[in-house]
Amino acid sequence: SSVFDHLVRAPEDPILGVTVAYNKDPSPVKLNLGVGAYRTEVILYVLGLLHDQVKILYQCEFFSLILYVDIGRKPLVLNVVRRAEQMLVNDSSRVKEYLPIVGLSDFNKLSAKLILGADSPAVQENRVTTVQCLSGTGSLRVGAEFLARHYHQRTIYIPQPTWGNHPKVFSLAGLSVKTYRYYDPATRGLNFKGAIVLLHACAHNPTGVDPTLHQWEQIRQLMRSKALLPFFDSAYQMHSRLGFRKRWGECLVAQSYAKNMGLYGERVGALSIVCRSADVASRVESQLKLVIRPMYSNPPIHGASIVATILKDRSMFQEWTIELKAMADRIISMRQQLLMLYVVEYLQPLNHRALWSKVKCYHMQYVGSNLVKASGGANVGTPGDWSHIIKQIGMFTFTGLNSKQVAFMTKEYHIYMTSDGRISMAGLSLRTLPHLADAIHAAVT
Ligand code: PMP
Repeated sequence: SSVFDHLVRAPEDPILGVTVAYNKDPSPVKLNLGVGAYRTEVILYVLGLLHDQVKILYQCEFFSLILYVDIGRKPLVLNVVRRAEQMLVNDSSRVKEYLPIVGLSDFNKLSAKLILGADSPAVQENRVTTVQCLSGTGSLRVGAEFLARHYHQRTIYIPQPTWGNHPKVFSLAGLSVKTYRYYDPATRGLNFKGAIVLLHACAHNPTGVDPTLHQWEQIRQLMRSKALLPFFDSAYQMHSRLGFRKRWGECLVAQSYAKNMGLYGERVGALSIVCRSADVASRVESQLKLVIRPMYSNPPIHGASIVATILKDRSMFQEWTIELKAMADRIISMRQQLLMLYVVEYLQPLNHRALWSKVKCYHMQYVGSNLVKASGGANVGTPGDWSHIIKQIGMFTFTGLNSKQVAFMTKEYHIYMTSDGRISMAGLSLRTLPHLADAIHAAVT
């Protein structure tokens, strides 16, 4: 018998487990909308067909010059990342030595500037200490361990709902986790002076709903008046406008380069702690090193070198923002297309029904990559108001589907997503959208 016989099987992670289940499903129509990882849309141009000819062929006003043929959506490696990697490979002076405990110094400085702004007084006065960590998760965890050791308060408030890993990251670090109702002005009144409050810096996961600038200002004033300590989680910087920047006083920021540079598996992130003075910042750093050393000694070099190469070069930085915009635009277009499949009574004012009548060939069927049938969709009139699909921002749509409906869609339509009804828009393509729309329609009717 094994010394581990007493172990019970642990459940899969609620988010990463979605991919495990997806991988096991043999269905050819299966769709993974669980993990927030960007996938490309593969586009084949229909050469030799003029706009009008395509229109006659497919009676289609939209996309008439291009047919989107999905031959397997791929994870995207940004061109600028490839270019940076090539430069790193060609640079024979580069070695594989250990980094310091706090990571790559250039990377840390550039990350602080990126998140706080180059003109930030805290940056200019050296009041920020930044340590390179293992992506967003690692940055949150190091920050949490530091707070559990050195902050006078052990309670952290996280939004409800939030990213499913937050409660575990903070409680395992020794903090006591409580929740605040996200987006409800009434409960912004926290009674616990000095508590730590986790705020999504932008593109809130899973709701896709961020505070307006005015609401951010209200939150900021409330937090300062109650001496609450903000811990910003910035996993989607550049996917939407940053909600915070200045005048938050002392705070922590966890940054990830997974989604905005497509560096998921490289695990590149940073924890910055903005302090009242340069002296405090340097003492904080000395303590952060004590947290990190027994955890993993020092962070990996490759991903951070890519980020530093890109951030420090003006033209590469520019190229990055362009590629990022293309990713964000595709996600926005997925929102618009999905909404079009729901032409519902509620949306009459937006005149989507008129729009819909033109998209006659929306349901396209393929054998392999050949278009064999193009017909109108049958989903006109899915009950409910689905306009939040385009109102929400960031990578996810918080559909409002409940766990029963999600289970139905997985069982009957082989669509995988987290049980809270969150779908990753970045995992959709024009080919798979109708399948999703059919599934949602069936689930809610
Ligand atoms: N915070 C939030 C809100 C997230 O959604 C994620 C990724 N899904 C992370 C942090 C951490 O991501 P990573 O560790 O891959 O950078």
